[in-house]
Amino acid sequence: MIHLIKGILMIGMAWMLTGCKPETPVASFDGARAFAETEALVQFSPRDAGTGNGRRAAVHLKTRLEALGIKTVIDTFTEETPAGKMVFNNVLGRLPGKTNRLIILASHFDTKAGICPDFQGANDSGSSTGVLLELARVLSERAPFETEFMLALFDGEECRSEYSPQDGLHGSRRLARQIVEGGGAGLVEAVILLDMVGDKNLNITVPRNSSQTLVKELFSAAQEVGARPAFSLGRGAILDDHVPFLLAGMPAVDVIDFEYGSVPGLNDYWHTRKDTLDKLSVESMQTVGDVVLRMVENLQ
Ligand SMILES: [Zn+2]
Repeated sequence: MIHLIKGILMIGMAWMLTGCKPETPVASFDGARAFAETEALVQFSPRDAGTGNGRRAAVHLKTRLEALGIKTVIDTFTEETPAGKMVFNNVLGRLPGKTNRLIILASHFDTKAGICPDFQGANDSGSSTGVLLELARVLSERAPFETEFMLALFDGEECRSEYSPQDGLHGSRRLARQIVEGGGAGLVEAVILLDMVGDKNLNITVPRNSSQTLVKELFSAAQEVGARPAFSLGRGAILDDHVPFLLAGMPAVDVIDFEYGSVPGLNDYWHTRKDTLDKLSVESMQTVGDVVLRMVENLQ
């Protein structure tokens, strides 16, 4: 017993000397893992909403979240579109918190239809999905947090012809409606949407139609991790999956680099066969992952 007490005392002294507890190291975001998740998703390409590959991609994402011990469901629903009735699959994972305040981390995973038979959609929507899966891994290892986290992977973000209440943003409109109908909108602390975050030349321009408080939090987090130069406020608004949440009164921010091309100012890789894995970088994913992780920690 004395030995045991001595041992405990010594460990205690060691803590005091080193200033830290001998715990397992805190998980940190790994850009290479995010890239690997993107590569794995891109195996299901193209993965347009309503197709077999779209469904297979959803099942794959559910499997990835469940492998982290995150309770996940596929919410399958049908909606009218310009191409007729279509079936969509939202993938929703939940990481319980100590309170019922909720942070939603979101990305779409479907590809734009009709580009080319081997369209990868590596940046749009592979990169954001890869970063979100890696964030899910880190958060599940660091859990529990004060807030609950929802990992929301949307289907049907891309429109068939032109954005309208029947075309595009199907998954996000569905989830925003479900949250409002369930009476939980007031508990949502933040909706952080990631979109096109893997470009080698990372230049996040946050659209003006994002909640000011969250834009501030995002820029502070970027400053804290030394990534502030890659983040700025964009010139205009963007219609993206964060909009249905804003319209329902929930704070939301769109973390997007909407300049994806061969030279600065051009967007010639976007929605073309050139949106391939070789245009992405581990470093860009690392930067976005580090910033979003810091941001959600600051929101606790
Ligand atoms: Zn797109």
